[in-house]
Amino acid sequence: MTSPSRPSAPVVLKFGGASLENVRRVVEDIRSVRSDGGRVVVVASARQGVTDLLGEALAHPRSRAVHRSVWEKVRDRHPRLPPAERRQLDRLRRLFETVEAAPAGDRPLADRVLSQGERLAVHWLASELREAGLPAVPIEADHLGLITDNTYGASLILLDRSRAAVRSGLGRRLNRGEVPIVTGYFGRSLEGRVATLGRGGSDYAASGIGALIGASRVELVKRHVAVLSADPREVPGARPIPELSYEEAEELAQFGAKVLHPLTIEPARTHGVVLRVRSLEDPSVATTISAGRSDRHNRALSLLRSLRLVRLRVPGGRQRPGIVAEVSQRLSTAGVNLVQLYTSSALLCLVLEPPQVLTAIRALAPVTREAAAMVEGPYRVTLVIAIGDGILGDLDRIPSRAVRGAEGFSATPRALSLAVPEERGPEVLRALHRALVEERTP
Ligand code: ASP
Ligand code: MG
Repeated sequence: MTSPSRPSAPVVLKFGGASLENVRRVVEDIRSVRSDGGRVVVVASARQGVTDLLGEALAHPRSRAVHRSVWEKVRDRHPRLPPAERRQLDRLRRLFETVEAAPAGDRPLADRVLSQGERLAVHWLASELREAGLPAVPIEADHLGLITDNTYGASLILLDRSRAAVRSGLGRRLNRGEVPIVTGYFGRSLEGRVATLGRGGSDYAASGIGALIGASRVELVKRHVAVLSADPREVPGARPIPELSYEEAEELAQFGAKVLHPLTIEPARTHGVVLRVRSLEDPSVATTISAGRSDRHNRALSLLRSLRLVRLRVPGGRQRPGIVAEVSQRLSTAGVNLVQLYTSSALLCLVLEPPQVLTAIRALAPVTREAAAMVEGPYRVTLVIAIGDGILGDLDRIPSRAVRGAEGFSATPRALSLAVPEERGPEVLRALHRALVEERTP
């Protein structure tokens, strides 16, 4: 029961671009939370395809023709914008003119362009919702005071810097009985410029806003999918996962499961906010992410495809303390991102993105000289990842033929990764899914 003096904690509903295609369901969704007495903050992504279109315009910075056609497509994705809100479209047109004249590679300018998708979406959505009788108000997150660091294109939300402004700005609206419709995907940097959170960043924005306002839960509403045990296109037996711990979900997001932006979990975890990923079209499909119990045996599998594995053989291995640190240091200085590292005493297996292989080998030249180490490969591999609390207890379930011919294996109590020759990836994924999910008896 909610007492009148103390309003209930709000619920954040985040709608992705695909779910915005079904406005009728969005309206019903918001209504159903409100009719239970809940106060709702909506976070919206850009409409489907709009961020891609803006990215395409940025990929042709000098082409007025491309900008014109992108602008028209973006305009058509936002029909029936109220006249006052059409200035968002004018603003996009002016931004394209700025891009045409600006020096190449202006990342903050690119973020300004990219943020227009969410701005248009909230103005469009708020007007649709008002028409349906909901007291919706569009809010742009940079104006609200959602503060980020200055890493344009991949910025971090600074919760402490944002707290006061976001709480008071949204609190005021909620106390008036309104439904704030807030842009996802971006905030305002410490320098006062627009900064995006990286692709898929609206999930992260929603989780950050939920943490800031002490939401009772943050619901990430996808049109069809929730979190599945594997990609159903790869694994016909894939099934929804009803519950995950924050830690499991974080591993899953980091290991390339496209359902969640990798930073989404952290604000919710540190502030104890429950996350729910659910399908708009099928309410029975939902995954609850909350503080973990380890007895659930949820398993989620994924593939990281088209990677390269380079072996570094270090004679005398263990006799050379600091070799792993030196290798990682040299790679990170060269800007190489290690996808995975498998080690034994005299062998280091580095898993890399293909475009970084040459840079990595060059960066390691001093090590190969001084330590008389040898480079072997690159070999084409796919990583098969399996995630779930207590997964080390599953090792005896893994069929030996899945591991045969593998190029590397590593595990923590929460995740395991297996590097297999590229062409065997899908088959090994299905074999592991069968063993860890389908044939599991509770
Ligand atoms: N519109 C942005 C993107 O497509 C952010 C999001 O959808 O979460 O990446
Ligand atoms: Mg999007």
